[in-house]
Amino acid sequence: MTTSTTGTTARQGAAGAAGRPGTGPGRSADGGLRWCPACGDEASAYGPGPRGRPDAACPRCRALERHRFLSLVLDGLAPRLALASLVVDVAPSRPVAQQLRRLCPQGYLGVDFDPGADGRAVDVRASLTDLPLADGSVDLLVAYHVLEHVPDDAAAMREVARVLKPGGLALLQVPWAPGRATDEDPDASADERVRRFGQADHVRMYGHDVEDRLRAAGLDVARMTPVDWLGDDGAALMHLWPEESSWVVTPTTSADGVGRHRGVLAGGTSPGGLAGALVRSRAATAEATARRAEAEERGDAVRRDLAAARARVARLEDEVRAARKESARWRRAYERLRGRLPVRVAAGAARGARGLGRAVGALRAVPR
Ligand SMILES: [Zn+2]
Repeated sequence: MTTSTTGTTARQGAAGAAGRPGTGPGRSADGGLRWCPACGDEASAYGPGPRGRPDAACPRCRALERHRFLSLVLDGLAPRLALASLVVDVAPSRPVAQQLRRLCPQGYLGVDFDPGADGRAVDVRASLTDLPLADGSVDLLVAYHVLEHVPDDAAAMREVARVLKPGGLALLQVPWAPGRATDEDPDASADERVRRFGQADHVRMYGHDVEDRLRAAGLDVARMTPVDWLGDDGAALMHLWPEESSWVVTPTTSADGVGRHRGVLAGGTSPGGLAGALVRSRAATAEATARRAEAEERGDAVRRDLAAARARVARLEDEVRAARKESARWRRAYERLRGRLPVRVAAGAARGARGLGRAVGALRAVPR
């Protein structure tokens, strides 16, 4: 099994984003800060996703939109997972596997039919149509982008119903085109599969009957989208595709069906619920934004101080220049004065001598 990274999920997302202007990926309710619920990292933007789709993948853990929504759902299930004895992760993606191992270290089991194809590290090599697990043994099974690879998907769905505990949950996601019936053809050529199913190793494109198929296999079904669980603002805040569909299923034999789990997942404002996780994530985002604003303000104050100090230095330099100019002027005046002083004295003396001579001459001329 391989996990689709492109195909109809991308189309769903594009349609969802287009259908709800202002809430698609890349639009932010928080002024641009990204907070990844899968790894808790913050960034100013996500990195490119499949086919270079911008602002899609967490730069740290590579989680895409669907992984980030699943991560919030799993966060909402944390109290259950802490008590779970077996959590089965089919065709695990790295960010989700890390989170599941953290939430349920005692019972995590990674499973893949062909782990070598994607270089996955798994605990068990098995097909979803034939899991080596006891009836009613699994608390949670995650199979994102698996069923569209499985020729006998009815067998795989029955297997999910078989291994889940009464009240156990599976979280499923498949590419689908809700406006039409499921299109499948195990004999289609690779080119035709790309054209009709979105990827060469897909054997079908699910349609509006996907939920009927799950029910026929003995599963109670609820569809969930980010906007259902988080609202428009929450989906925009977390940079999710508002209308991207996943399904939460539980064996029909469970006492009160999947409706009960909807409450658990939504969680009201309880600390374990999804809404609680969202409230915490909003608080973390708000805190990070406040920290950034504070740092910017501190930076502004430092810049203002620096500018004032530079202005003071410039004023002092002006004063020094003026003082030097003044001093030079005085020096020049002094030099001029000093240069002139002996001339005047000599001239005065000469004048005096001449006057004296005249006086002596006059005295000599006085008749006795
Ligand atoms: Zn991340």
